[in-house]
Amino acid sequence: MHYQPVYNKLTQSCTGTEALLRWTLPSGDAIRPDIFISAAEAEGMIVPLTRHLLDLIADDVQHWLVAPGFHIGVNVAAEHLQHPALVDDMLAFADKIKHTPLQITLELTERSLIKDGEDVARKLDRLRAEGMKVAIDNFGTGHCSLSCLQTFSLDYLKIDHGFINAIESLSGETPVLDAIITLSHKLQLEVLGEGVETALQYRYLHQRGVTFIQGYYARPMDNRAFVA
Ligand code: C2E
Ligand code: CA
Repeated sequence: MHYQPVYNKLTQSCTGTEALLRWTLPSGDAIRPDIFISAAEAEGMIVPLTRHLLDLIADDVQHWLVAPGFHIGVNVAAEHLQHPALVDDMLAFADKIKHTPLQITLELTERSLIKDGEDVARKLDRLRAEGMKVAIDNFGTGHCSLSCLQTFSLDYLKIDHGFINAIESLSGETPVLDAIITLSHKLQLEVLGEGVETALQYRYLHQRGVTFIQGYYARPMDNRAFVA
């Protein structure tokens, strides 16, 4: 597992992280996650893989010295959301980390279409009732964007880095990005900018009231580096 810090503009500190799976071959070469995650989805292996990574995360976080409510974001694939064991899997994970001060955030990745929206919405409501938060990931580029905002009760909206890349100047407009930020505020969702790499992008988002920032200003890193 690698962990990428999330910066919180209000507290001016790191108040969360996203867990990102890595696969390094014995030769030292790495396989890109978008390749092996898509393959796992296609082969019907994403549910066991996610259970495995929840175990890895549970081991890693036992000794994290973080403030109460520090977020651990976990990507959940559409197939897992539709799987009858979703609620049990996530509650088992919550139980394993119950002695830590962590807050679990489920990131709904949009690589594949979420079917049975109402069934998924009920499961997510159950998990939110248990104290978990729900984020919509890669907002604006995936299969389920505006429709998901109506179907699911959400806490966070993560703006896809493609829209952040479109920022050209501080005073100019970035129409689609600006519309997404306004929409998030109207829906009273917390909003996170993904893929923030430059000071200009940071200042632009700051000016428009985006609270959370994630990007290569702090790259995903292994557990030891993250703890340090
Ligand atoms: P994602 O959920 O959108 O994750 C964020 C991706 O953006 C990560 O790529 C991260 O390294 C990258 N990123 C972060 N900051 C920047 C930046 O400033 N610039 C650019 N260009 N990229 C940045 P990564 O780790 O290669 O993961 C790719 C995708 O693979 C993830 O996209 C996620 O959809 C999937 N993935 C990774 N780990 C898991 C996992 O454990 N479970 C599932 N289901 N999917 C995962
Ligand atoms: Ca994500």
